[in-house]
Amino acid sequence: MFSVRVKNVTKHSKDTVTVTFNVSFRSFPGQFVMLNLPGHEEIPLSLSSPDSVTVRAVGETTEALVNIQPGELLGIKGPMGRPFSIPNGTALLIAGGIGIAPLIYLHDYIIGRGGEVKILYGVRTSEELINHRRFENIKISTDNGSAGFHGNVIDLLKVEDRPDRYSRIYCCGPEIMLRKLYDFFKENKLLRKVEFALERYMKCGMGVCGSCALENGLMVCSEGPVFNGVELEW
Ligand SMILES: Cc1cc2nc3c(=O)[nH]c(=O)nc-3n(C[C@H](O)[C@H](O)[C@H](O)COP(=O)(O)OP(=O)(O)OC[C@H]3O[C@@H](n4cnc5c(N)ncnc54)[C@H](O)[C@@H]3O)c2cc1C
Repeated sequence: MFSVRVKNVTKHSKDTVTVTFNVSFRSFPGQFVMLNLPGHEEIPLSLSSPDSVTVRAVGETTEALVNIQPGELLGIKGPMGRPFSIPNGTALLIAGGIGIAPLIYLHDYIIGRGGEVKILYGVRTSEELINHRRFENIKISTDNGSAGFHGNVIDLLKVEDRPDRYSRIYCCGPEIMLRKLYDFFKENKLLRKVEFALERYMKCGMGVCGSCALENGLMVCSEGPVFNGVELEW
């Protein structure tokens, strides 16, 4: 573990911030860090860029992190985990809620290399949207119709696009959403080109404790968090 200092905190909404560190990690989109805020539990967070994490408060540690101040120290293990693959054509990114975090990094990585990306971004209400105006090619869905398409991101996908047009599809969000996307892509025989970033509850982050094991025995921390659709047995 090593220490980093908080350089900047950007508030997106009352419960979501991006914490930027004073160091940039040699990393790839889809990788995560085990972050240790002194006095709190160590938690996994995806990198939202080489030098930041984007976090939503859901419990004690994330609550404290959302209120952190520039200059404070954090312990970091990593970056670790299997990253997303790099597409060789236009990519489709599908995010639900805070699942946008690793996809921000993937979006910037692909655009930085001259690639093309489309984003479908679903949230419950427009207040949850993070930085969506910075993306050029994006469609939004909200469950309550307060912005963009009225419905969930899977309904948006069905009306908005033909997923077979994309060379690679990347999904991150609540597991219930990922399972529905899995069923949709399986039915459409597209699973092979889809990658899922899973955010299962994990403790050690090193493949030892088994708390993040999938039904087929794969560990999210040491063998993921990114899995190709054909590796999952949902
Ligand atoms: C690989 C990976 C990457 C992640 N990346 C991000 C990220 O970029 N941004 C972000 O905000 N969060 C991310 N998470 C989720 C984050 O780790 C949890 O929100 C955090 O551990 C909760 O800690 P806490 O002490 O605040 O809450 P706790 O008190 O531990 O939990 C509060 C509530 O949230 C539930 N919970 C805890 N962890 C998870 C989880 N992983 N999935 C679903 N429910 C959970 C608990 O069951 C409880 O109901 C990621 C998780 C993993 C495994």
